[in-house]
Amino acid sequence: MCLTEPQAATDLGQIRTRALGDSDGLYRLSGEKMFITGGEHDLTENIVHLVLGRLPDAPRGSRGLSLFLVPKYVRSATGMQRNGVTCDGIEKKMGLTASPTCSMRFDEATGYLIGQAHGGLRAMFVMMNAARLQVAMQGVGHAESAHQRASSLCRRTGANATSVVYRRRRCVRPHLTPSCHPPCSARPSVHCRRRANDRILGG
Ligand SMILES: Cc1cc2nc3c(=O)[nH]c(=O)nc-3n(C[C@H](O)[C@H](O)[C@H](O)COP(=O)(O)OP(=O)(O)OC[C@H]3O[C@@H](n4cnc5c(N)ncnc54)[C@H](O)[C@@H]3O)c2cc1C
Repeated sequence: MCLTEPQAATDLGQIRTRALGDSDGLYRLSGEKMFITGGEHDLTENIVHLVLGRLPDAPRGSRGLSLFLVPKYVRSATGMQRNGVTCDGIEKKMGLTASPTCSMRFDEATGYLIGQAHGGLRAMFVMMNAARLQVAMQGVGHAESAHQRASSLCRRTGANATSVVYRRRRCVRPHLTPSCHPPCSARPSVHCRRRANDRILGG
């Protein structure tokens, strides 16, 4: 998802990426985005960017944003060709090293309008609301993984615990009480997430 720009982070109304309509019903997008998770990689044949930009007649602020689908490769008469979207660099950050966070440049990139003109935020949040729930579930998964590793450490060291390991176990044990046992708290979390997802999707 390509929202953030150097001058527009929390305040998306400052977004400057421009989208010009073409005679073929497509759009040409130009602008800069930053902090884009998975903006460039070679794990998949194509990357489909969801980009917030502004049409020439757009009102000011966040009400003037439209959403465009901008693929890394677009189909042409001669086959698939590279679109005008490039990665300018990978952001340097502490931790989260397995996820490339990229600066992206759109240079008259071919895009397709998604939803209504100037209805970009509404359209983007269809995806983002679901993504938020998925990130929450990722957190539950991390807690479960941490719990399993801590349990395993306790099992492995329980028989002949040295004083160092014993101190570690004393750190770990409080987190293994039933009230905060991840599987116990994870089940309601998964259930709530499922219900919220059903509500969003009208299920
Ligand atoms: C690892 C990582 C991955 C990311 N991936 C993506 C991505 O895939 N796509 C994408 O578009 N963006 C992505 N981002 C950008 C992320 O969405 C922004 O970091 C976020 O929008 C906040 O911007 P900022 O960090 O510049 O904070 P700022 O906008 O500078 O805000 C800093 C603080 O000030 C507060 N603040 C700002 N403005 C106001 C105001 N007017 N009134 C009161 N408080 C205010 C904010 O709440 C915040 O606490 C990513 C960021 C990171 C770190």
